[in-house]
Amino acid sequence: EQGAHPDAAVRSTDSDALVSRASAAALGYFADPFSSLFLSPQQRRTLDRRPPLIHIGTHARTWAVDSLVARFLDPNVGPHHPVQVLSLGAGTDTRFWRLRKQWADAGKDWNCARWVEVDFPEATTAKARTVSTKPDLRSALGGDVKIEQGGLALSSPLYTLLPGDLRSLSALSESLLSPSTSPTFGAPLSPSLPTLLLVECVLVYLEPAATDALLSWFALTWGADGGAGGAIVEYDPFGLEDQFGAVMRRNLAVRSISLPGAASTPSLASLTERLRRAGVRGETGALSVRQIRDRCIDADEVERVARIEQLDEVEELNLVLEHYAVAWGNLRASSEEEGQGED
Ligand code: SAM
Repeated sequence: EQGAHPDAAVRSTDSDALVSRASAAALGYFADPFSSLFLSPQQRRTLDRRPPLIHIGTHARTWAVDSLVARFLDPNVGPHHPVQVLSLGAGTDTRFWRLRKQWADAGKDWNCARWVEVDFPEATTAKARTVSTKPDLRSALGGDVKIEQGGLALSSPLYTLLPGDLRSLSALSESLLSPSTSPTFGAPLSPSLPTLLLVECVLVYLEPAATDALLSWFALTWGADGGAGGAIVEYDPFGLEDQFGAVMRRNLAVRSISLPGAASTPSLASLTERLRRAGVRGETGALSVRQIRDRCIDADEVERVARIEQLDEVEELNLVLEHYAVAWGNLRASSEEEGQGED
């Protein structure tokens, strides 16, 4: 698009994620009654064009990220205290509502004091409008719902949506931690509760220096000695220096999307090294989505998913899944965590 804002292309990547999620959910890959509520009429029309490969990949990455977030929220496995989740570049992600529903269906107490999402103002304005007007979304927020900052932000007891630019760290930190952010609810996040940072398919769009600064800020705020502790979960492409990466970049260049972050993620190991460099001191790990599908997801579930659609391009599927990874890190080693459960 001529004259479009330079960030418009990056913002459009959420539309792909949303359509893939809604399309996979509609076919029964996983339960997500919420994604379709965010679809525009135009996105609704493109739903049936997603190939099986995208559905299978979306299922596997969602499974992995869900499992890690669920562990953190489970007081028997993760921290014993109430926790917080900070999802940066959240787009139209529905994980908050999906997990709330899973917890309610299982009769479990919701252990997450605050779930905070940040994205560009264009994204948060649209999401705030949808969340505040759809009863199925609004009813999960724990009470009073306020649209704030002239429509850019939404606050409620359990869930906060804030506009921000991940490259402007001091403004971001201020709005997340300052009591003046919301006239009704005060600071979105507390530095004294264990906090999970979720960055799902976001860091690849940032310059490596911006990612390092962001991860270091998080590790310092919650992971420093005497801090509340927490963890980081990320999903990103990696190893894009090969032929596959060249094709992917060419396809994205047509849409003016570049992947500056890929320069710092040549391998799986580079993902965990990046976390450690930022100050993550506890257990770290990274698995490709292919490894997640082959080794972690129950065989019954892999089989169930394989039966949903006919997949002819098995090699292509594996090639794609080998280029995406989920990585995680505990801010501090379990022995350092006061009152935290064992890993
Ligand atoms: N996390 C969601 C998911 O996995 O479904 C959305 C992923 S989408 C591929 C990338 C998101 O990151 C977009 O919503 C985009 O607007 C957001 N994003 C990228 N760069 C950003 C920045 N500098 N500041 C705020 N948000 C950003």
